Amino acid sequence: MSLSWELDGPVLLDLLEEQHIPLWSSQRKENEPIVFGGGPVLTANPEPMAPFFDVILLGDGEQLVPTFIESLHKTKGLQRTERLEYLAQIPGIYIPSLYEPQYSPEGNLIGVKPLTTAIPASIHKQTWREKTLNHSAVITPEAAWPNIHMVEVVRSCPEMCRFCLASYLTLPFRTPPLEEGLIPAIEKGLTATKRIGLLGASVTQHPQFTELLRWINKEQFSDIRLSVSSVRASTVTSELSKILSKHGNKSLTMAIESGSQRIRTIINKKLSEEEIFRATKYIHEGGLTGLKLYGMVGLPTEQETDIEATMNLMLKLKQSTPGLRLTLGVSTFVPKAHTPFQWEGVNPDAKKRLKILSKKLKSKGIEVRPESFGWSIIQTLISRSDRRLAPVIAAVRGSQNSLGQWKQIYKASRGEFFWETNNPLMHLPKPPPWEKIIFESWETSTILPWMHLEGPLKHEQLIAHHQQALSGYSETSDIQESCISIQPKVSNRQD
Ligand code: SF4
Repeated sequence: MSLSWELDGPVLLDLLEEQHIPLWSSQRKENEPIVFGGGPVLTANPEPMAPFFDVILLGDGEQLVPTFIESLHKTKGLQRTERLEYLAQIPGIYIPSLYEPQYSPEGNLIGVKPLTTAIPASIHKQTWREKTLNHSAVITPEAAWPNIHMVEVVRSCPEMCRFCLASYLTLPFRTPPLEEGLIPAIEKGLTATKRIGLLGASVTQHPQFTELLRWINKEQFSDIRLSVSSVRASTVTSELSKILSKHGNKSLTMAIESGSQRIRTIINKKLSEEEIFRATKYIHEGGLTGLKLYGMVGLPTEQETDIEATMNLMLKLKQSTPGLRLTLGVSTFVPKAHTPFQWEGVNPDAKKRLKILSKKLKSKGIEVRPESFGWSIIQTLISRSDRRLAPVIAAVRGSQNSLGQWKQIYKASRGEFFWETNNPLMHLPKPPPWEKIIFESWETSTILPWMHLEGPLKHEQLIAHHQQALSGYSETSDIQESCISIQPKVSNRQD
């Protein structure tokens, strides 16, 4: 199971139940399947879901899956526990049952430790350093994006906005070559469909993106429909807009995060108002009729004046480009593990700010699409909790689409009856109040549930980026240093 989004997690339990596989790894017997998973959510903070998995792969699948499968074959015939102990020695493979969270008498996490000295104390996320290139293997009208051949153009993002999991967790920024990589991948897809999707955290940052666009813009491909995920404003050109418009696009999406320059500086979004206006002009001139901007509320240090700045920016954009349909998609800041903002809590005022933005901009003819504040809270719960959330996830299954159920069950989990009835984790202290997980900003000295798992940047580097952010500092030399000082090519475990 690959989990890309926190709220995918609880669905796993439905799938296990459908297959009559015991939910808890501790309840699976010798002849039952080994349940393994990966993807960004499990690589960032697997702990809330850890008791449901026998094996978690931390990092790039190209690197890990073949090694894992090979090791499984090698251990055929051994006892289940022996197989898991063998797998635990492989870099990037995390066996949750061989680690135990430890707590202070007050119930605070003080570490997740291996059960024996034979098991590595920390696990390093694995990074694929060869040519990165993935594309759809199956093209079908039944897919979430029907009949589209998806091609991965970039992996990670060099911008390192301080909240961004897509950048921080997957560093370094990697790009496949055009001639031997992207073009053959697109040609392969064109044998099956006329719809191509270019995928990645920030696709226009591929150094040969303009060449790629010109290649697609040939006469023979005039009937191809081309989609791109969101683009960086500073990379939008008139040519890009014209080509996208010619290939079936009506609008383009740019993530500005906030209309406030102060906030953009704090989050390290290297984007000026001038660049936003220039990109908007190119989009309009290129023949696109819509522009969707992504923003966030509740970013660290945000004030009401920053929300006003976002409203003002939207209004000025509307005035400067009459005829261009403007939409603002806006979500609540959710802290993610392995990013410099992992210590920051959700701002409870975000709910009110979502409403203010919606109300005021709608009255001026700008469409606003706010994401649910309530679900951002549940995302945060899954992104920041430790293993003690697992019994809650198990209890909420079947009604995981109800916010009310999440709240009610979490509250119940803090009571004796819930915690001590049919709960394989009853030996652990009860979960903390949910305000502590969701809304509190934590000291950087706090022991985090994912600290036994090592991501691309060291803990001290994340602390430095956090401090720089909150003192309003943003510049590039530090970023380049961080990109260079990622873990060595072959990650060795350090006991
Ligand atoms: S530009 Fe976008 S993808 Fe890149 S780090 Fe910032 S938010 Fe993440």
